[in-house]
Amino acid sequence: MSELAELQAEAAACTRCPLAAGRTQVVFGEGADDADLLVVGEAPGRDEDRQGRPFVGRSGQLLDRLLRQEAGVERSEIYIANVIKCRPPDNRDPRPVEIASCRPWLEAQVRLISPRVVLTLGNFSTKLLLDTTEGIAKTRGRAYPFGDGGTVLVPTFHPAAALRGGGEVLARMRADFVRAKRMLAGVGP
Ligand code: URA
Repeated sequence: MSELAELQAEAAACTRCPLAAGRTQVVFGEGADDADLLVVGEAPGRDEDRQGRPFVGRSGQLLDRLLRQEAGVERSEIYIANVIKCRPPDNRDPRPVEIASCRPWLEAQVRLISPRVVLTLGNFSTKLLLDTTEGIAKTRGRAYPFGDGGTVLVPTFHPAAALRGGGEVLARMRADFVRAKRMLAGVGP
């Protein structure tokens, strides 16, 4: 069993925060253990809670499309995780105490996968991993150094924002996914 699989088994029984009581199952994340690209969303929704997999609903379909069309990768080649591993009731925003409780799981995923590029989707993952209070509209549009191993972080909007906001948001997301592709290829932002 890989270290990541061991971590996942441990997380499946997590009761570190009150979200444990309302979940169907923990949505730990999925993908290649040695992925070059780690995508980090916010929290599981209804479909994810039922299936135990990240980004399987409408946002996930758009994510898959952007990954394929703009970043040139398939879901199976990358790793997809969330800041929060259990569904918040009624899809409300994650609370600070939940983010703090769940944070060690994500940090361990980052350490074990050791990706070259981290693509953060939306405010929660971007603020947490960039350690900033600045909103996604301000932070997106460039790549940031992340950690001390040469990893870069590319922030973009959450796919749900494009589903709500339409063309303008989607166009920016496309540009960010291309940026992630260029960083993966090592040809700069
Ligand atoms: N939105 C997220 O942020 N994560 C998921 O897994 C699904 C929808």
